[in-house]
Amino acid sequence: MDDKNLKFNSKAIHGGQSPDKAYGAVMPPIYQTSTYAQSTPGGHQGFEYSRSGNPTRAALESALASIENGSYGLGFASGLAAMDAVMKLLQPGDEVISTNDLYGGSYRLFKQVFEKFGITFHFTAMQDTQAIADLVNENTKLIWVETPTNPMMNIIDIKAVSAVAQKHKVLLAVDNTFATPYLQRPLDLGADIVMHSATKYLGGHSDVVAGALVVKDKALADKLLFIQNASGAVCGPMDSFLLLRGIKTLHVRMERHCQNGAGIANYLKTHPKIESVYWPGFEDHPNHNVAKAQMDGFGGMISFVPKGASFEDAISIVENLKLFTLAESLGGVESLAGHPASMTHASIPKTEREKSGVVDALIRLSVGIEDVEDLKADLDAALSAI
Ligand SMILES: *Cc1c(COP(=O)(O)O)cnc(C)c1O
Repeated sequence: MDDKNLKFNSKAIHGGQSPDKAYGAVMPPIYQTSTYAQSTPGGHQGFEYSRSGNPTRAALESALASIENGSYGLGFASGLAAMDAVMKLLQPGDEVISTNDLYGGSYRLFKQVFEKFGITFHFTAMQDTQAIADLVNENTKLIWVETPTNPMMNIIDIKAVSAVAQKHKVLLAVDNTFATPYLQRPLDLGADIVMHSATKYLGGHSDVVAGALVVKDKALADKLLFIQNASGAVCGPMDSFLLLRGIKTLHVRMERHCQNGAGIANYLKTHPKIESVYWPGFEDHPNHNVAKAQMDGFGGMISFVPKGASFEDAISIVENLKLFTLAESLGGVESLAGHPASMTHASIPKTEREKSGVVDALIRLSVGIEDVEDLKADLDAALSAI
């Protein structure tokens, strides 16, 4: 079967997958082993040591490559471990351009870990492609895009950024955590590397921390595979199994996340106590046309600011929610609410944060796949407390 010709819903279940070689197990067994017997030095059956390769992780990696329309998938211990591997492609003196409302942990990795190794980072509002082009110089080696952005739901035009990257021979990496390949396939739009916090929608059940990279180019894959093995932040066999299991329902979960996301976004938009709602599905969203062109739906991530609300008001709303769980993270079947200023984005200085719209009263929702009427009632009750 040529997986490449399958539609996404079939790829999610069958892409890159075949029954296990030992006994024909339909689900890949959890190869909970560190090492493999050799008949003679070097005489092994494809696996030597589980940092370098493990059959459960290999099954995950080929599934990842399939759903992102890439050729090589790599499984990591976390999303940030996957990013860390990409950053290790760089040398001291190299420069990176990224978005100014990046995931807080990505910003921290750039500024507090890699800056001290002599790498320079520039942050700009990437909706403006010209602003990116203006920052490119002979030291620029990587453009790091996250779209939709977190938590402001800005949309960056991947095709337009890839034209800039290709013109200047700069690598383009896209953090596809929020959209997932169900909604957006960056490699098809010209990106060189797709990255995931697989902890989120790919896993989908809030029971695993993992990361992923997918690329098309063999030389780039070889460099990343070398770093993955040399640095060693690999995805374990149990986590690989859980991710494979999650990916098999990605398409049905995402369809409902999109439906419920639209329901909640529209509910909040007409609510008298709400000042603003950030969701790329609105026709008046500043980048709605780009979203419509590069995404197959608008997802279940929504941010909003209650009218005249303070830091404390926002905290009291998230504390009063009952069906939405107050928690870091996103992308699970259950609905979560977060307060970026004190949680996910607390590591970004307040002045930096507010420049990109992450004000003290901003609340972020990861809309799950419960009944949407129950979710609305929960928000209604929590909002009536202010
Ligand atoms: C969570 C997240 C990350 C980091 O991934 P971990 O799995 O937590 O290491 C990176 N980017 C985005 C957009 C995220 O939401």
